[in-house]
Amino acid sequence: METTENVRILVVEDNFMNKVLVKELLQVHGYGVLEASNGKEAVDMAESHHPDIILMDINLPEMDGMESTHIIKSRESTKDIPVLALTASAMKGDEEKFLKEGFDGYVPKPIQLTVLVGELERCLKKAYS
Ligand SMILES: [Mg+2]
Repeated sequence: METTENVRILVVEDNFMNKVLVKELLQVHGYGVLEASNGKEAVDMAESHHPDIILMDINLPEMDGMESTHIIKSRESTKDIPVLALTASAMKGDEEKFLKEGFDGYVPKPIQLTVLVGELERCLKKAYS
C-alpha cells in the first residue's frame, strides 16, 4: 500500500456538511472514499466493499457507531478492518474508552487534517504492514 489512491476509506457520518468536509479532505489527500449515513449501512458496506479502513461517527441514526463497530469487529469477514471513532466528545479519557470498545483509534471533531491523516496512516501501517 504505497500510494493513498489505492486506499479506500468508508466514511460513516449522518451530518451532510461533515460528510462533505471529511470526504473532500480525504480526496484532496488522494484517498478513495466510500460513504454510509448510519450504522446499519456501515455494517453492510463493510461486508460488501471491505474498505481498508472505516471512519465512524458515534451519534448516528438507526444504529449508533458503537453498536455498528461491535458488529463489524465480531464478524470474521470484517473484524480485521481498522475502525477510527470520529466524534465531538473530546473529554479526557475518551480515547481509552473508545479503544476498550474495539475502536483502533480516535479522531476528535472539529477535525484537523493533520490529526486525521496522522491517525489514518498510523492505523493503516499497524494493520497492513
Ligand atoms: Mg452524527
